[in-house]
Amino acid sequence: MTVQAWAASTGYYLGDSLRQLGLRELEHQRGDAADSERHGVKGGIVVYAERSKDFVLVDGVKVVLEDAVGSLRGHLTISRTDYEKVFVPLLWGPPRAATAVRRIVLDPGHGGKDPGKINAALGYAEKAATLDTAARLKIALEKRGFEVVFTRTKDEFIELSDRPDFAARTKADLFVSLHYNGGGAGDTTSSGIETYCLSPEGQRSTNSGKAKATTTAEPGNRFDSGNMALAWGLQRQLLSLTGAEDRGVRRARFAVLRTLSCPGVLVEGGFISSRKEGAQIKEDAYRQKIAEAVAIGVAEYAARVRPAQKTQN
Ligand SMILES: [Zn+2]
Repeated sequence: MTVQAWAASTGYYLGDSLRQLGLRELEHQRGDAADSERHGVKGGIVVYAERSKDFVLVDGVKVVLEDAVGSLRGHLTISRTDYEKVFVPLLWGPPRAATAVRRIVLDPGHGGKDPGKINAALGYAEKAATLDTAARLKIALEKRGFEVVFTRTKDEFIELSDRPDFAARTKADLFVSLHYNGGGAGDTTSSGIETYCLSPEGQRSTNSGKAKATTTAEPGNRFDSGNMALAWGLQRQLLSLTGAEDRGVRRARFAVLRTLSCPGVLVEGGFISSRKEGAQIKEDAYRQKIAEAVAIGVAEYAARVRPAQKTQN
């Protein structure tokens, strides 16, 4: 491919684009198998990328990209959308909010006739795990001065579209949907935590769902920067407190995220279908860690977007 054709189709040199965001190249390794680069500043966020990988590590946390990391003339490259929708929000931070983040909507996934994922051997269903996690998270968030509202407080069925509508009606500042994952039939070994935010306009979903090819704009895309920053911050805390496998920050056009009127994410706090991880999730202590991690991540996000102090005239 010619350089011009590459520039039109792909995007930017990783190093150049990160330098624009204030990072320096700390290290690069060239080889036939794996070119890699590390960029950062002392005391700041470090980005690690490897050629052909569909993700980068941002402070050690996997962020799944729209396009795999490329390479041109010995330097790694990234797509323009990944620059705009991943690197800018994470390294510059989301814009400050007009008013402080105060009211959080917690959305315990599934309920009633919809049990979500099930671990039959343990007799444990996702809908029970998410409701319990939400109750723990409420306490953790209230301790930090937030106000919490639930989309459901008991074992009842709620339509997917009613969940973001609820956030709009209650004028929420943030929305967090809580889920636990499940593998395919007979899968008892898949494990790890992933956090989703809405796919930006023009970007595919990074999950393997049927909406992968869709690239439409959604109302929730107003909050792309906040969504990404919140997802990454929560994922980082979740991994740190649980030690779980990192399945990455991902993007999808989930129904609960599409029409949100505030920034929001969907957390998959581990595989309930897993023999090992499912048993952990069934333990109170594990769900408490998930709750604490989300609370810390929300508080960090709120601090990051806190409105600037008004100066007196
Ligand atoms: Zn679920």
